[in-house]
Amino acid sequence: MDCLFCKIIDGEISSSKIYEDEFVLAFKDIEPQAPFHAVIVPKEHIASANEINSFNSFLVAKVFEAAAKIAESEHLERGFRIVNNCGEDGGQSVGHIHFHMMAGRQFAWPAG
Ligand code: 5GP
Ligand code: ZN
Repeated sequence: MDCLFCKIIDGEISSSKIYEDEFVLAFKDIEPQAPFHAVIVPKEHIASANEINSFNSFLVAKVFEAAAKIAESEHLERGFRIVNNCGEDGGQSVGHIHFHMMAGRQFAWPAG
């Protein structure tokens, strides 16, 4: 399968790793939108949030468990934002579900 994030998970494409466990990988976004910008992905290929079901939804929980650990190790005490873009209108550009974890600046709300 021709999936950019599967290739990063397999090590075929290099990335700057932030966190890894049995279920998820987090690496630095190549085009950071904040002083800290990680991409957290489940290692299993899931195309988007539309593909989440009762069998794989635990992986979303694993992503958030990883985020809490990253917040601690990266000293993100001031807070952070997690974003999932889904589909064309959602602004998803890579077809492997991923969660942007951004910190180090104040974010606007509602998001534009
Ligand atoms: P999306 O736009 O699908 O929500 O997010 C995809 C993210 O992947 C973007 O923020 C983009 O900068 C990042 N990205 C795209 N290609 C690469 C790459 O080869 N390496 C890394 N580390 N990030 C990438
Ligand atoms: Zn994939």
